[in-house]
Amino acid sequence: MADKKHGELLPGVGCDVVSCKFNTVDCRCSAARISVQSEKAATKGETYCSTFCPRGTC
Ligand code: SF4
Repeated sequence: MADKKHGELLPGVGCDVVSCKFNTVDCRCSAARISVQSEKAATKGETYCSTFCPRGTC
């Protein structure tokens, strides 16, 4: 479930996804909360941030 609210920076969450509207100039996350999904993930690449929102589309 995506959370579209901007809030305080999430402490300890660094993110390099510059195409996400929640990404800040210093590569941190400004979403109020994030959700990381993929229940059967076995590798890093199999996880993903479901809060990701491409700039200009949501
Ligand atoms: S919402 Fe997810 S993808 Fe977007 S900046 Fe935050 S951690 Fe990165």
